[in-house]
Amino acid sequence: MSSTTPTRESSARRPRVGVLGAGQLGRMLALAGYPLGIEFSFVDPNGDSPAGVLAPLLAADYGSPEALAALAACDVVTYEFENVPVEAALALEARVPVRPSVRALGVSQDRLLEKRCFRELGIPTAPFFDVGSLAELEAALEQTGLPAVLKTRRLGYDGKGQRVLRSAADVAPAFAELGSVPLILEGFVAFERELSLLAVRSATGETAFYPLVENHHDGGILRLSLLPAPNVDAELDASAQRYGRALLDRLDYVGVLALELFEAHGELYANEIAPRVHNSGHHSIEGARTSQFENHLRAVLGLPLGSTEPVGCSAMLNCIGTMPDAHTVLSVPDAHLHDYGKTPRAGRKLGHVTLRAPDRKTLAERLSLLRPKIWQID
Ligand code: AMP
Repeated sequence: MSSTTPTRESSARRPRVGVLGAGQLGRMLALAGYPLGIEFSFVDPNGDSPAGVLAPLLAADYGSPEALAALAACDVVTYEFENVPVEAALALEARVPVRPSVRALGVSQDRLLEKRCFRELGIPTAPFFDVGSLAELEAALEQTGLPAVLKTRRLGYDGKGQRVLRSAADVAPAFAELGSVPLILEGFVAFERELSLLAVRSATGETAFYPLVENHHDGGILRLSLLPAPNVDAELDASAQRYGRALLDRLDYVGVLALELFEAHGELYANEIAPRVHNSGHHSIEGARTSQFENHLRAVLGLPLGSTEPVGCSAMLNCIGTMPDAHTVLSVPDAHLHDYGKTPRAGRKLGHVTLRAPDRKTLAERLSLLRPKIWQID
């Protein structure tokens, strides 16, 4: 046997990362991990998930004995989906390192705990109130005034599970729609733009930050990210990193953490965190020296982190509902297409395109070419 032929022993020494969830984030984790010799085991209740073409995927409930056994056999367990039951993560934690911490998972699942965590750390947020009844909602509205945003504490994403209350007539109907579960009322932040910070800390305590990203949403779904965010002064950048670092410390965090922020009058207000790689970090595959996916894996495995420095300027465009024609997209210079292999459905994130350019002016020119090709059809 030649010395380069893989043996069972050399394969057995490769780290295996167990991942709760097997969507596109899991798929991009696997794509980043294979060059490093990392192996994967995915668990997802949906056996038809995008990561399943790349690695073993167990179709099972997260807390089932088969899922826990498969994941506990890995070197480390992580998640690509934050609504994994905390009980399943706790059961795993007793058997295998779970990174990020179960504490981070629990906080990110509940908007009230999340906002309290921000407040305790001195991170500005919209005013917020715990709402369990219509009377509590009315009392909270006296404090926030209108408009205000009523949200379910749990299981909200992409703008689901929330209503903007603009007039007194909106209050009772919104409570009737959402009020069967615990709610939070937030004051309305009249922000100028939405930003996000991708932070990463490794199991050895090494920390790094990607430059702030500017995000544009439509109907609650992320459409476009620009990196580095334009018009960010040193003070804004320093505030974002201070908030990111405070969260990493408080949550005993290992892995990539996304912090979603509003900017209003030069100040940042934290909206929410995601304890995982994040859609607003997808540009980093081509637009940074080391992608968020690779850095997440490096972090959870205690490997040295890679540089988060940007490679020129980038824009990330989500493909929602329909995939654009590959030929058309790839005819734009330095455009990179990512198709997650999902069945098209209205409102579904099917893929993304990252566009790179050496400077903002060229990026704007390329974006004006590409934009209509992606979005005219959704
Ligand atoms: P979320 O599900 O919390 O990420 O909210 C989805 C979107 O709703 C955000 O990206 C904002 O555009 C908007 N939004 C959420 N909370 C507020 C708020 N308190 N004030 C103004 N807009 C908000």
